[in-house]
Amino acid sequence: MAKKDYYEILGMNRDASRDEIKRAYKKLAKKYHPDINKDDGAAEKFKEISEAAAVLGDDKKREQYDRFGTADTMGDQGFSNSGFSDFMSGFDSHDFDFGDLFESFFGRGPFARGGRRTRAPRRGNDLAVEVEITLGEAASGISKTINVPRLEPCKACEGTGAKGSSGIETCPECRGAGQIRMTRRMPFGMFQTTTICNRCQGEGKIITKPCSICKGRGRVKKTRKIDVKIPAGIENDMRLRLVGEGEVAEHAGEKGDLYVIVKVQSHKFFEREGQDLYCEIPISFVQATLGAEISVPTLGGNAKLKIPAGTQTNTIFRMRGKGIESINGYRAGDQLVRAIIQTPSKLSKKQKKLLQDFADASGDEMHPQKGFFKKLFG
Ligand SMILES: [Zn+2]
Ligand SMILES: [Zn+2]
Repeated sequence: MAKKDYYEILGMNRDASRDEIKRAYKKLAKKYHPDINKDDGAAEKFKEISEAAAVLGDDKKREQYDRFGTADTMGDQGFSNSGFSDFMSGFDSHDFDFGDLFESFFGRGPFARGGRRTRAPRRGNDLAVEVEITLGEAASGISKTINVPRLEPCKACEGTGAKGSSGIETCPECRGAGQIRMTRRMPFGMFQTTTICNRCQGEGKIITKPCSICKGRGRVKKTRKIDVKIPAGIENDMRLRLVGEGEVAEHAGEKGDLYVIVKVQSHKFFEREGQDLYCEIPISFVQATLGAEISVPTLGGNAKLKIPAGTQTNTIFRMRGKGIESINGYRAGDQLVRAIIQTPSKLSKKQKKLLQDFADASGDEMHPQKGFFKKLFG
């Protein structure tokens, strides 16, 4: 399902509005809904357009799709279905049954296994690997090389599991069909069942001389170094999917995918919320009173911040664009700086005298609680 163009499926331009997409979907869904349209391929088409609508109808997923060409590179953030149900709320729900639709894209996690009953080529396991990066690396993006232990096709037998071409034979039990048909007599008549052949596990072939390297399994454990490009703006617990970098199935089947789960380390100075960074800086009461220009660390090095005269403690200053770029590159976050006024605790005699003189010259302003109580109690 990977390489479909969702815009093309819905017959939309890239700049189509949400409403246009909604309308296009509704029209197509009516045309191809399997309850209405009995043509071959209609169900498939319906699934396809629904999948496209689920992505393009959700702003977040659409942004991501526009950027990465897939809607599921991201983790839970990228796959919340709230946007989708919101998108669907405008539809007459009695028109269609969305049951299997939801199941088709929300009920099936990336690690879920479909129980296959046919001889369709098996798919290898998906793998998940965690990679830890710093906040700075998350902000700038980075390439990492990770070690992935996985099952790969055995070179000696080219994944067949057999020693040479004579080591593999048609299964005598099912004569290559992979299935066994049984007819049973039941009280109400004849009853035919089809089961997967036990001897060959549905493969239709059996290995008579197993490969000595992989013991007939067709795959061997290898640790691979894989380069992963982690995009700027990535958030903690987001997943990147590397298609086909998972394990190979037995006997040269399809490869699974590799999920790289990104863990972003916490930072000793910054706290991150989405694209924004929060931090606290101490300032002196003199700086707060008279105003000052101070130097504040940002992810891109130190930057100047103007503290205006008369700043109160806990005032938050916004340094625009000094946060983290969003993963789709649309918006740079801000850095929010909370100013904490420090009260000096060790003063010299001279300092004390100066402050006392200052207080005497200031009158009630140096006893702010007086005015405060007056306002409250009259
Ligand atoms: Zn068989
Ligand atoms: Zn082998």
